[in-house]
This record gives sequence, structure tokens and C-alpha cells, in this order.
Amino acid sequence: MDVKQEIEQLRSELREHNYRYYVLSDPIISDYEFDQKLKKLQLLEEKHPEFYDPNSPTLRVGGDITKNFNTVVHDFRMYSLDNSYSLEDLLDWEKRIKKLVDGDLNYTCELKYDGASISITYQDGKLLRAVTRGDGIQGDDVTVNIKTIRSVPLVLKGNDFPNRFDARGEIIIPISDFIKMNEEREDIGEEPFKNPRNTASGSLKLQDSAEVARRPLDCLIYALVAEKLPVSTQFETLQKAREWGFKVPDVAKLAGTMEEVMEFINYWDVHRHNLPYETDGVVIKVNNLQQQEELGYTAKAPRWAIAYKFKAERVATLLEKITYQVGRTGAITPVANLKPVALAGTIVKRASLHNADQIKKLDVREGDTVFVEKGGEIIPKILGVDLTKRPPNSKPTQYITNCPECNTPLIRKEGEAQHYCPNTYGCPPQIIGRIQHFISRKAMDIDGLGDETVAQLVNEKLITNYADLYNLKKEQLLPLERMAKKSVENLLQGIEKSKNIPFERVLFALGIRHVGETVAKKLARHYKSIDALQNASIEELVQVDEIGEIIAKSVVDFFQNPINTSLIERLKNAGVQLKISEEELKGQTTILQGKTFVVSGAFHKISRNELKKLIETNGGKVASSISKKTTYIVAGENMGPSKKAKAETLNIPIISEEEFLQMITNTI
Ligand code: AMP
Ligand code: ZN
Repeated sequence: MDVKQEIEQLRSELREHNYRYYVLSDPIISDYEFDQKLKKLQLLEEKHPEFYDPNSPTLRVGGDITKNFNTVVHDFRMYSLDNSYSLEDLLDWEKRIKKLVDGDLNYTCELKYDGASISITYQDGKLLRAVTRGDGIQGDDVTVNIKTIRSVPLVLKGNDFPNRFDARGEIIIPISDFIKMNEEREDIGEEPFKNPRNTASGSLKLQDSAEVARRPLDCLIYALVAEKLPVSTQFETLQKAREWGFKVPDVAKLAGTMEEVMEFINYWDVHRHNLPYETDGVVIKVNNLQQQEELGYTAKAPRWAIAYKFKAERVATLLEKITYQVGRTGAITPVANLKPVALAGTIVKRASLHNADQIKKLDVREGDTVFVEKGGEIIPKILGVDLTKRPPNSKPTQYITNCPECNTPLIRKEGEAQHYCPNTYGCPPQIIGRIQHFISRKAMDIDGLGDETVAQLVNEKLITNYADLYNLKKEQLLPLERMAKKSVENLLQGIEKSKNIPFERVLFALGIRHVGETVAKKLARHYKSIDALQNASIEELVQVDEIGEIIAKSVVDFFQNPINTSLIERLKNAGVQLKISEEELKGQTTILQGKTFVVSGAFHKISRNELKKLIETNGGKVASSISKKTTYIVAGENMGPSKKAKAETLNIPIISEEEFLQMITNTI
């Protein structure tokens, strides 16, 4: 196989695996194997720029920067939808359209996904460009950003698609991904996003496509538009789109009557709260494309479709008190404490007021009756105040000027919406929050020590920072409430064990603002020790892959503070890993941990024994015969035919010497 074929082969394999993972949610290889293939392709493409392909799976990670998005005229206009709110509205609509077309009507009912609309043009089966709706006639060319969304096919499957057509869909962020992303942002001291819809549409216009690639965006397709399509109904269109590789939710249903349409609506009005993404209604479309064409469009919307908007469930309740929470980074969040009220199947007691500007904008005050809404959204939202119920003695809310926990005057940095308590080392929730972060699973993973115990230890004044954990003594812990002998032992053992946690995770555990897991890994591998990192200047730091100004500055600030350097000194003395360990430096890693290899055949680059040794020094196991437990077979020349057959029946991947070597060298 020549290089070109090899590249083509890898691209098509990766495309298929990508499709299985992101569109079907049914992967057949591990993430690790996927990454290996991707890296292999990346290397080949770097070496052979003559085979560049704008639709290669390697370009999903982004990297292009767009200063200004070009305006592009849509091939086919993007319309809006008329709204309806009741069965009567729908019956009126049906009456109107029945006058305009012949024949029986039936309808496709779909969910109305709540995100940002997109039109993706395909030419000869390849993604050509992606354009936002804009004013419907022209929009912004956001192709580089859309290409990073894994569920958007860059190359189509099948062969019956028109030369050129538009796939229309909605860019959304699934709710669970949204929550996770916000938790991660709060973890590194960044402001959380307000809701999935705005975040999705904001993401499309980011200048840095690598940042877009990191956002958990998804694309749900609901229409295909072309001069001619190989289908005759909307329902078949959805099916076709699926065949060509698009992600099309399977909730759509055909309905013959408005009663059936209402059944669909009523079902989803209740069940929408369990969907993985947000929806704000249903879209009802005349199913027959011929009839759609006869019906045509008004100035703004198709006559052949109508949206039914779910009523956002809304209640009025008393705002009893506004309280303020202090986060680990000192960020203040105002919280509305409500008189408990039932809303969309849950009891709502609290709602976030976000920040001082929001309070001012809504002019909410304690004692007000407020409207609370839970529509498509996950988190209840305060819409406004029922002014008719405002008590006569009411006064505007004075935003706090001092920290509710430590009374330090708050600050607000330019350009940030949030207030902060600057008393980083003396403010209890910040002290507790930092230690909780330090011990968390992704950081030092200290078994036997939970968040509540941390708070207890801080309140009992046994610890005031994470270095203090390593001085804790059995005698200090035993008298504490809820501390049996066994739990004390577990706790101390957990702390002892954390001394083996690798440097990159320790670095994450330190809680440097903007240094999340990935950044910590990058920095640890680049600098190899805390001493080297500590001496790095901003100019040097920004040279490291993916480290920008903001992160660099935050790292330098952290080490400039003598409190931090003395904590690090203490961690060092306690035996915590503050550099890459000798083993790792000697090439001993845990890259292959949990994997079992069978080695077969003759090798060129290294001997069989060297190969086995490499497997072991990297944490893998070597077995002599193939079984279900085998993860990979490293095959050299003249691999035994019986081994080969066995590998095939058990579906165990066979990799070459080169692939294996890459596996242990390219892992970042
Ligand atoms: P509106 O913006 O309220 O006029 O509604 C029209 C928008 O709804 C379209 O631009 C689409 O982005 C969006 N939409 C979401 N789901 C669907 C769907 N299943 N069918 C058609 N449009 C949809
Ligand atoms: Zn404070």
C-alpha cells in the first residue's frame, strides 16, 4: 500500500469510527485506539502535505483563527416558523392550508430543538460551507467552527445525494455536557455559562476554532433542501439524512389528524424534561413535499409548517431572602431563596440571581413576589417581579460590599460580572474549597476524606491549607465527632497513599486559577518539575503548546505569592510528587496499564525481548497465548496462522511493531 492509499484508508476508518461514536453512540473501538489512529494519520499528513484534504478527520481539533466571519448568501432562504399555542390554533392552521392544496394531508411531528440554526452546504458529498441563519437571506460563514463538531459529517455516506444541497439543523449543547462544562469552568475559576442555547450560539462565533472544538457542541439535523431530493416526504427526508450520516433524533412521528398531533405534543410536554437536550416546542410539517411546494411561503415562514410552543411553566412565589455564596475562587453568587413552590415536576426553593447587574436589571428585592419559570431550561429562572404585590416599604436591593463569610471588602475586576472576595487565604469557604479541590478524585484522590470532613477539620482549626493534611496525627483526629478508629486509619492511609500521585495531578490539585486537568498535564510534561515551572516567565510559558497569556499570567502570579511557595516547600518535604518521577524519566510509565499483549512473529526495529520489556516498563502485561483477556497482538513478520485465526475470531486488534512504538511514544 502506498502512502496515499494508507492516508485514504485511515481517513475512511476514522470517519466511520467517528460516525459510530458521535452519531450512533455505538463505538466499536476504544478511545485509545481511536487516538492512536488519529495520531498516525496526523504524522502521515505532516510528512505528506501534498495529500492535504480540507475534510480530513484530523482537522476536527480546530486551530484556525477567524477575525471576521464572511457574509454569505444562502442558496435557499432560511425561514422562521409561525407559532401556535393551542389545539384551536392548529385547527385554524389546518383549515387554512386545506383550502390551498388538494388531497389528504398528513404531518411529521418533530421536536423543536432549542439552539442556534445552521445551514450546511454539501457539494459532491463533501462539506463545503456552514452558514448561520443571519437574516435568513445571508448569514455568517462559520465553516471552520462547524467542522470541529464531531457529529457533523465532513464526507457523506451513500451515493444518492444531490450534487449540491443544504442540510439544515440546530447546534445545541446537551444538558449533561453543559452542566459538566460549567463545573469544570468553576473548578478553574472561570465564570459559568448561563444556559445551553446562548452558549451554543456564542460558540459558533468564537474566533479560535480550537476553543470551539473543546465545547461539547452537537448538531441535530431536521431538513434537507435542494432543487431535487430522492425522497417525496419529510419523514423520508429525515430517514435519508440519517443514511447519509447525519445525526437525526428518532423522536419524529407521523400523524394523520390534529388529534394525533396533539397526542405527540402532550406526550412531549410531559417528557421533555427527561430529554438529553433542551426543546421549547414541537414543529408540525406537512409530510408530502409536493404539497409543501404548492403551499409555499409567506414573507417570513413556510405555510406548510408551524411550531407549537410549550408553555413554559411559570409560577409566582415570594422571594424571602437574597443570600450570597462564596466559591472556592472567591467568586460571589447571589441566590434567591424562595418560598418553596411546585414547578415542572420539582419543588423549587432557590434560584441563581447570577450577579449584581442581574439584580439591578430585574430590580428584585427581598419581600417581592417574583415570577419563576422553568421552560426548556434546567435551572429555574427568575423572570421578573410582580410589582402589584410589592410591599409599600420595599427598598432597592443593596448589593453586599463585604464578604458574607469573612467581611473583607469585595472587589470587582474590570470586564468581569462577578464580585470577588480577595481574602484568598483567610476566607473560610475559600480555604475549605481549595482543600476540597486538592483531595478530589481527579486531583489527589484521597480515599477516606470527604468534603464534609474537610470542612470539619478546617472548622476545628486542625488544618488551614492542603499542606497541613500531611501533618495530621491520629491523636488529633480521634476525639472528633463521627471519627471512629477505623475512619481515622483510613483517612491517614489515604493521605499517605496520595504521596504517590503523579506530578501532573498534584499540579492540578494546587488549584492555580485557569489550570485545569489538561493544562496541568501539559505543563507537567513540559517543565518536568515544580522548580522549573516556578522559574518560568510569562514569555516562556506562552511558548508551550496551548498555553495562552491568561494561563501564563495566572501561573506566574501563583508562584509570586510566598504563601504558595511555602506550601509547596512543605508538600515537597512531606514527600508529595513535585516532579516527574525517576521511573517516568527512565521510560517507565503507566501508559499501558490494564492492557495485556501477546507478541508474535519476528521484528525489525527491536528484538522480541526488548519489545516485551517495553510493554512491562510501560505498565502493560505480556501473555504467551491469545485469550479473551488479550488487548492487542503485536505482530511481526511470519506471525503464526493459528494465532492469526484465533485473533480474528476473538476480534482482537493486531498491531505492527511501528504502531506499538507509537503507542508508547506519542501519548500526551
Ligand atoms: P423561530 O426561530 O422561532 O422562528 O423558529 C425557527 C427555527 O426553529 C429554525 O430556524 C430552526 O433553527 C429551529 N428548529 C428547531 N428544531 C426544528 C425542527 N425540528 N424543524 C424546523 N426548525 C427547527
Ligand atoms: Zn471572604
